[in-house]
Amino acid sequence: MAKLYFIYGPMSSSKSAQLLMNAYSFEERGIPFLCIKPSIDNRDGDGVISSRAGMSRECVSIDTDIDVFEFMKNYIDKVSFAGLDKPKWVLVDESQFLTSKQVYELSDVVDYLDINVICYGLRTDFLCRMFDGSKTLMEIADDINELKVSCKCGRKAVVNARIDSDGNVVVDGDRIVIGGNDMYMSVCRKCYKEMAAKANGNCDRNEYVELDVN
Ligand SMILES: [Zn+2]
Repeated sequence: MAKLYFIYGPMSSSKSAQLLMNAYSFEERGIPFLCIKPSIDNRDGDGVISSRAGMSRECVSIDTDIDVFEFMKNYIDKVSFAGLDKPKWVLVDESQFLTSKQVYELSDVVDYLDINVICYGLRTDFLCRMFDGSKTLMEIADDINELKVSCKCGRKAVVNARIDSDGNVVVDGDRIVIGGNDMYMSVCRKCYKEMAAKANGNCDRNEYVELDVN
């Protein structure tokens, strides 16, 4: 029976690397699969998934207005016309950028097309607010796993802090700013509070900075 999996973790927790290793292992064993990624993340160019370790592979780029269930049905028709088996697995990179509706569509891919779907993504944005795609995955996924990474202080990193060119944490701005390694830092909640307090000029008091959650 197919399942919907959500594997989440902060930046630099090897999510894309794990996805690519899964893809490689399916390929090696001749198991049909498909890699997809929301088109909003075009850091590596449209239609490419890549990891910091240097691996990369082509994928299907999905716009936010695409019905993923309809897309998969058409894809299956296409591959079966070509005499190939339908995918047994769909691997989704950067799944936080899926819309909530698309996550439900992926759950239909699992339930009605009997295809396993593994979504990799961030839990929250740079102000600790849950992404829509991740929230819906948390709500309806069959199986949820966390990839852990340590903060520089040794605690578990849970915040994807956005960093400006001077190395200071950014506490306001657009929710989605696609950037490279130097633009985000995975830190623990405590270090984040201290960095945010410092950015607001309260470095002596280590004051907790209230997050704008609206
Ligand atoms: Zn820390």
